[in-house]
Amino acid sequence: MAEILIEKMRKEFAKGGTVAVNELTLHIKDGELMVLLGPSGCGKTTTLNCIAGLERPSSGRIYFNGKDVTNLPPHLRNIAMVFQSSLLYPHLSGRRNIEMSLRKSRLPKDEIQARVQKAASLLKIEPLLDKLPSEMSGGERQRVATAKAIVREPEAFLMDEPLANLDAALRESLRPELVNLQETLGVTMVFVTHDQVEAMTMGDRIAVMNNGNLQQVGPPEEVYNSPANLFVAGFVGSPPMNFFSGRLARTEGGFDFIYKELQVELSGRILENAAKLGETEIVLGVRPQHLRLCRSVQSGALEARVFGIERLGKEFIIIMEHEGDARLKAIVPPDFTTKPGEIVYITAKSEQVFLFDPKTEKNIAFM
Ligand code: ATP
Repeated sequence: MAEILIEKMRKEFAKGGTVAVNELTLHIKDGELMVLLGPSGCGKTTTLNCIAGLERPSSGRIYFNGKDVTNLPPHLRNIAMVFQSSLLYPHLSGRRNIEMSLRKSRLPKDEIQARVQKAASLLKIEPLLDKLPSEMSGGERQRVATAKAIVREPEAFLMDEPLANLDAALRESLRPELVNLQETLGVTMVFVTHDQVEAMTMGDRIAVMNNGNLQQVGPPEEVYNSPANLFVAGFVGSPPMNFFSGRLARTEGGFDFIYKELQVELSGRILENAAKLGETEIVLGVRPQHLRLCRSVQSGALEARVFGIERLGKEFIIIMEHEGDARLKAIVPPDFTTKPGEIVYITAKSEQVFLFDPKTEKNIAFM
């Protein structure tokens, strides 16, 4: 299977035009499931297309198992792609569609049949083999398209938002199936998505991109627990992290973070990092599950007005407004009772916050 190395790759569609991918260096290990995650237009598909050979990088190199494939056409790269809308021939049955990808392989008939059968069994699509695409649901079509990709026994799977057109329940059930399939086959997979839940649940590692630039690469829990910068912190996690633009203030024992009435006494590692910066402007980030709400006024707590409540059963999301600032979101247990218009008081604990430099936007733990 393929180890893929992208080295200083840049892609501009026209000279002086949009830089879709900027100096991207990324090492995808043999047998790894790497997710490219980022908002629309950040360069995910362009990166995937360059790996596939459908686009040629403006500069930089791409290597498969150490071999330079930058200028190789797609059919010489031994990769298979699955797209958002599966490309099945409408007049052919599931079986014939799957066989089509082996058409030029000159494999004996028995071998073709054996491969189709194996793929059908792995993807549990035996009942679809004799159906036409028009007789299949969206999820079934994506399964057949995936079978079509795996029968070729490629060195790498490139998947471009393959679950995006499916409903939420189907997406949820197909995610672990794709991960199991990738593990069973031991094949390298590059999976493009803008859905951070998909990325978190599927990736061995996630490469977060924004505006053509790689922001951070790491296992999902590392990206979540140690976001490298404000963009990653705000993009990974749902509901997103809350941010407060305040300052570090020296105290007798160390440093506090201060934003209006909100005062967080810093301790441990974050205090050590803050002490290196001294008194300065800083952005504090708190995940919604770590914002502490209370109903009575407290020293060091920020006053906010409840705007709405999303009742999710096992927990509630409280949406708050604070003097026209961006909305804040807190996840609370369902026994926290409040209603829109009520005033609540917000605090946070040092061990559950992140600090970011407002100029470089970097997490100060990385500085
Ligand atoms: P999406 O999730 O919406 O598909 P993406 O992250 O995959 O977005 P790309 O499709 O790679 O992003 O696009 C990156 C940038 O390159 C965008 O600004 C896009 O407009 C531009 N771009 C992509 N393809 C072309 C093209 N063929 N010609 C000109 N510009 C392009």
